[in-house]
Amino acid sequence: MNCPICDKVITGHPALSRVDNETEICDDCSVRQALEAFNDSQIPQEYTLEDGTVFMARDKVDADRYIQMVRDIEAGRRKVDIKK
Ligand SMILES: [Zn+2]
Repeated sequence: MNCPICDKVITGHPALSRVDNETEICDDCSVRQALEAFNDSQIPQEYTLEDGTVFMARDKVDADRYIQMVRDIEAGRRKVDIKK
């Protein structure tokens, strides 16, 4: 059979597409989809604070880190160096 994505003949065991988890695709396309999924997860998302401040973060952990940093700065626990 041929890979429905790149039309290459699939030799050996086909891989399952991550898109629907049932379409059988070739190894190369499987790897590419895995990489794409990884890259997608790295795209920054918009998060909004209670006061309406919008910021970008890669994920929830990153967002929490940012929020904590802002709180620290506001509380004077952390100094911000402004480069001249
Ligand atoms: Zn393919």
